[in-house]
Formats: sequence, C-alpha cells, structure tokens
Amino acid sequence: MYSKGDTLIFSLEDVPRRDESMSLSLMDKIVSLCKRRGFILPGSDIYGGLSNTWDYGPYGTELKNNVKRSWWRANVHLREDIYGMDAAILMHPRVWEASGHIKQFYDYKSDCKSCHRLFKVAELKNKQVCPDCGGRLTEARPFNLMFKTHQGPVEDKAGEIYLRPETAQGMFVNFLNILDTCHPKLPFGLAQIGKAFRNEVTPGNFTFRTREFEQMEIEYFVHPEDADKKLEEWIEQRYSWYVNLGIKKENLRKRPHGHDELAHYAKACTDIEYNFPFGWSELEGIANRTDFDLKQHAQYSGKDLTYFDNQSKRRFYPYIIEPSGGVDRTVLAFLVDSYREEEVRGRKRVVLGLHSDLAPIKVAVLPLLTNRGEIVELARQIAQDLKKNLVCVYDDTAAIGKLYRRQDEIGTLYCLTVDVQSLEDRKITVRDRDSMQQERVSIDKVREYLGDKLNLSN
Ligand code: ATP
Repeated sequence: MYSKGDTLIFSLEDVPRRDESMSLSLMDKIVSLCKRRGFILPGSDIYGGLSNTWDYGPYGTELKNNVKRSWWRANVHLREDIYGMDAAILMHPRVWEASGHIKQFYDYKSDCKSCHRLFKVAELKNKQVCPDCGGRLTEARPFNLMFKTHQGPVEDKAGEIYLRPETAQGMFVNFLNILDTCHPKLPFGLAQIGKAFRNEVTPGNFTFRTREFEQMEIEYFVHPEDADKKLEEWIEQRYSWYVNLGIKKENLRKRPHGHDELAHYAKACTDIEYNFPFGWSELEGIANRTDFDLKQHAQYSGKDLTYFDNQSKRRFYPYIIEPSGGVDRTVLAFLVDSYREEEVRGRKRVVLGLHSDLAPIKVAVLPLLTNRGEIVELARQIAQDLKKNLVCVYDDTAAIGKLYRRQDEIGTLYCLTVDVQSLEDRKITVRDRDSMQQERVSIDKVREYLGDKLNLSN
C-alpha cells in the first residue's frame, strides 16, 4: 500500500497505536494528498515505479528545504559552538572498517517458506512462524546493509567502495581538519545534512524507511566527564525543536534504549519517537558514542586524533554526543501531525496546519475575476513584489472557492484576493489559513502586514 513492489510492512512492534481503522485511513489520506498535490511522488513513475523510491515534487521540496533550513538555523546559525559541513558521500573504504560497518552493520533476514514474505528478524520478536500465514520461516541469515559499488572503470576488488550509510563518519574524519582550521575549544560540534544509503531488508511505510534517505546529524565533542550531562541537554533541545515547530506533545515521546539495544559504539541512547499512524517509531536517536569513533579512526589512519586541553594541559580523546535524525521521517511526521479535516458550512475542508517556518508557500495571490485584464495585472504585480521577501505564488486556474481549498490543502498561510473593488480603493482581501478570517488591507501596506504576521526568518 505505501511501499510498492517487494514488501509492505507495518511495524510489528507491540506498541500503543492510534485507532487502527482511523490510522490506516489517515496514512492513505496523507499518501494521496502527497501525490495529488505534488508533495511526494512515486520514483520512476512512468516506468511503473522503482520500489520504495520517492521523488519530492514542488511543494514537498519546499517543505523538505524548510525543515532542513529550520534545523540548520537552530543548530548552526543560532549557536556559536557548531560548525556546518558537507562531506563527500564516497569515502575511503578503510573508513567503514574503522567504523565497524563492514563487520557489524548487519540485519538478519528470514523468509516464509509458504508465502515467501521477507522479514527482518528483529521485527519478528521471537515469533517462530510467519505472522501472515503461519508458514515455516527460514533460518535467520545476516545481510550487510551497505550499498557496494566500484570507483573507476575497472570492476575489481581494489576499486570497491560504498555509498555512505550515515553522514556521521564524514565529520569524524574531519575532526583534525576542523581543529586546524577553526581552532575550536571543547565543547564544540559539527553539523551536516546529506544523503545516506542503506540496503534495508524491509523498507516501507511510505517515506519512513527507504534505501536512499537524508540525515541531519550533529557530532558534538565534549570532555568525557561532561558526556552524561550533555547527552541529557541534547535530548531536551532536540525534543523542543519538534515541539516548537508544531508537533503535538502527545504524539512525541523520548524512549531510552535498553542495554541490549545499544549499537556497538554507544554507551547510552535515547530515541525521539513519533506516534505515526503505523505505531510509535523513531524520528531521531541521540547517543553517547564515547571516544569510540576518534580512537578507531586514529588507529586505522595512524593520525593523532586527540585534543589538547590548554587549561588542564591534558591530551585526550573527546567523547561524542550525536543527535542523528532523518529528514524524510521528519517531513512525514510534520505532514501527519498537521493534517486536519474540518466541516465548514456543510463542506469538508482539508488543511495542512504547518508551522509558518515550514509551510511550502507563505502567500498565494488570487484574482477574483480572470476576464478583467486590470485585475489579473494588479494581482501579478502584487505577487511579483512579494516574491522578493517570501515564497509567494500567483494562481488563476480555477474559481476562488477551489483556489482556497487547494491552498488550504498545501498549507499556504495567507491568500490575497484581488477584486474589482481593489482597482478603486487599492485594497485587497487577506484570508488567514487557520481562522479563515478575512481582512481588507491596503496594497501598499500588505508587505508590512504580512511581515508582522509571519516570521520571515525563512
Ligand atoms: P531504525 O531503527 O528505524 O532502522 P536506526 O536506529 O538504524 O533507525 P540511525 O542509524 O540512528 O537509525 O539513523 C539516524 C536517523 O536516520 C534515524 O533516526 C532515522 O530518522 C534516519 N533513518 C535511518 N534509516 C533510515 C531509512 N532506512 N529510511 C529513512 N530514514 C532513516
């Protein structure tokens, strides 16, 4: 249903869920809205699609860019201790030996001998038979999640490289460069947004789990003795980021990992989970990675990756606190959380009540009559003028009622209507997405009016 082709899975976890029938239809509605309005479209669609690949259309791209911009602003621009980076996707193969990915980045898969459905063993939760048809399951087999390819024209062992399965390693291997170029003092961090690739056994649930996805990661270097405290601080900061951008608190929770769940490099980790229609699932993990990564890369590269602390005159490996989130999952959570249906004068209205920083389009300018050249011209002029400060569109492709409904569905904050009266009194009607209140505003004051209402940091 949400993943085309090979596998459709809903999480098999025994976790509290929204009402099942309501939730499934909510997910259907989100997928359908994303397609109908050009947010997220099936990848390679005209070829019948490539399973579990998705393309972001015009509004989806704006929304995704806004999510990334808000994250970057909160974690890089508004802080003094975090530096932004953009490392290469292709990295030296030794990186993945040092990081442990070649030896440890495995999932176990098992398939049903009767219906042939493929399962990730962790999701079977010790079930001995197929949860679908009761058939016998094959033995669990390990499966490395990294995509392997070749660098250069010869497909031999020497040219083997991997598409990165996380952006984190690009920051660890630049630790020394950043010390040399920026001379930061502990605690300080590196932040990066970029694509990552994992050959997931069971992708699915729309964009929640795909094989190509984007991550937003921070590697925050701290004194080892401060690591526990900094971990707690980051959990709170990251939780607040979602809430400040409008995610309802009742749909968000922090879930500390049990000892048996921790990755090989982590001493502690807490996930921020969202109550998706298919169950509580991870949006972001915040981990104390200790000094594992720097020590490993020091050993494999032969470079000294210690930090010299001027105050204590000590040389040591800093610990790393890592808040690591997914762009695509975050976008999906914002879509689900902001979707609402209302009844207005006996008719259904669908609204994406996205936060003003995230809404793909801030303002739409709509002419009431398209057969009056002066109205169209004035409306186009207003739109062109507003485009200098905010994301604004002009639309005259339908009657006003339909245009309003379209803009509500994509979360546009304000609709500006130009009518016959506007030609005389130089005023237009401004309609608020959420309250649907309408106000007449002078054309020469409209930019100021919107500037006051909107946070124009975007
Ligand atoms: P999961 O347990 O769901 O597989 P993970 O714990 O392996 O996730 P991390 O390695 O912590 O994930 O990656 C950090 C973040 O990257 C995740 O919190 C998630 O938001 C995102 N992410 C990881 N794998 C995928 C994927 N296959 N598709 C989309 N996003 C992903």
